Amino acid sequence: MAAPAPRKGRPKAVINPDSCTGCEVCIAVCPVDCIDKQAGPMAESPMFQSVCVIDQPKCIGCWLCEKVCPWDAISMVPPQEVPVPA
Ligand code: SF4
Ligand code: SF4
Repeated sequence: MAAPAPRKGRPKAVINPDSCTGCEVCIAVCPVDCIDKQAGPMAESPMFQSVCVIDQPKCIGCWLCEKVCPWDAISMVPPQEVPVPA
């Protein structure tokens, strides 16, 4: 059984793929370069052809991406609440 996640620590950034437009503004500001762009869930829609995803272990919780995202697609969550990828 996996060890439980620590209950304290800096928050982690989480991107909502339903709101992300793949504009890459967050990629430009991330100081540890932990955001990547990938094909989005709505590839047929020009507005949502790609989304950004965060390499969670690398995220240092600096809040920069959350502050600059023009689409409010990024939330900061406690580290124990980061969703596990499907
Ligand atoms: S800044 Fe926001 S909308 Fe733009 S790519 Fe990053 S998460 Fe997506
Ligand atoms: S919170 Fe900071 S380190 Fe984490 S993904 Fe956003 S810009 Fe990068």
